[in-house]
Amino acid sequence: MAEVDPAPRGTDGEPLLTVEDLRVHFHTDAGVVKAVDGVSFDIHPGETVALVGESGSGKSVTGMSLLGLLPKPAAQIPTGQILWRGTDLVPASEAQMRKIRGQEISMIFQDAMTSLNPVMTVGKQIVEMIRLHLDVTRRQARARAVEMLDAVGIPEARKRVEMYPHEFSGGMRQRAMIAMAIACDPQLIIADEPTTALDVTVQAQVLEVLADVQQRTGAAMILITHDLGVVAGVADRVMVMYAGRLVESAATDPVFYDARHPYTLGLMASLPRIDVDDVVIGSDVDLRSGRRLKPIEGQPPSLLHPPPGCSFHPRCDLADIGGACTEEVPALRRVAIGHTAACHFADDLEARAAAVGTADAIDLVHAAPVVEGPTA
Ligand code: SF4
Repeated sequence: MAEVDPAPRGTDGEPLLTVEDLRVHFHTDAGVVKAVDGVSFDIHPGETVALVGESGSGKSVTGMSLLGLLPKPAAQIPTGQILWRGTDLVPASEAQMRKIRGQEISMIFQDAMTSLNPVMTVGKQIVEMIRLHLDVTRRQARARAVEMLDAVGIPEARKRVEMYPHEFSGGMRQRAMIAMAIACDPQLIIADEPTTALDVTVQAQVLEVLADVQQRTGAAMILITHDLGVVAGVADRVMVMYAGRLVESAATDPVFYDARHPYTLGLMASLPRIDVDDVVIGSDVDLRSGRRLKPIEGQPPSLLHPPPGCSFHPRCDLADIGGACTEEVPALRRVAIGHTAACHFADDLEARAAAVGTADAIDLVHAAPVVEGPTA
């Protein structure tokens, strides 16, 4: 009997969101940029899924497309479905999307300072958001705003609700954004690099607030980040994107301990352990493992003129140049239960590294596990 991938932990198997073969094209003077190129995934109630990749990999565009926030007319969705509780959002009107945004799906952006209105008190901004979606009086909305600020750990919420964004610290502004995002009890929160602008201590606090919110409300979360270290302690599943495509997807532990794509391994090899005391800031050596931190050489490819075959091949230490890697686009295929990867050699990266025989190739497949990021 064929093995069936189980539903993610704690879910009944019915997805909240199903993205099917999503493509997002930007029409520019230079040509068509395929920012998202055939992405499919499910999000189940209550789970946290990290969408990971470098800048330009298509993760933020994917997140924005779910909320109908793509810049039109430059951005088009030529194919694909975004099924939100069974309804396709791709053809939805702006009026329909306005009802969903904030109330059913909400988004937390990277930079709270530019996302919050600087000339309006934080409380007023939350009140407006609540009154846009819920049939409540201004007094009730204000009470809810105070409750939300309190819930995300802002001290003296009753007083701070009257303050302006510039009177908040960076960490408090990010908490205020989270308060606004959860004010209407959304079922899905899309957090786009929510901790990137914060220092590591505040980053851990904000992740803790998000995990706490999820536990209380049961909301699912898509955590968009370039940093695999951030997801280690908080995500149930990880999806890795490269050049507009998903290249690996699995529960968090298999991604960290049994990665099957060289790009995922490269992301891990470039990360220090940030849970230990003896890492020297500015050093390129992880003192605990003695391992040299190794960046992924080169740049992500142009999505206007992507390379032939596997789009990662110009940067891949395991590439079979002139063979499969430059001739054939690797399909995203199942490599274990609940684990997919898009690499011609995903079944045995160690054997591929041995065949290549270089120090970089051997080092790469022995890079994991290395990461224990801030835990929520
Ligand atoms: Fe590297 Fe080839 Fe795998 Fe692409 S298919 S990730 S180039 S080994």
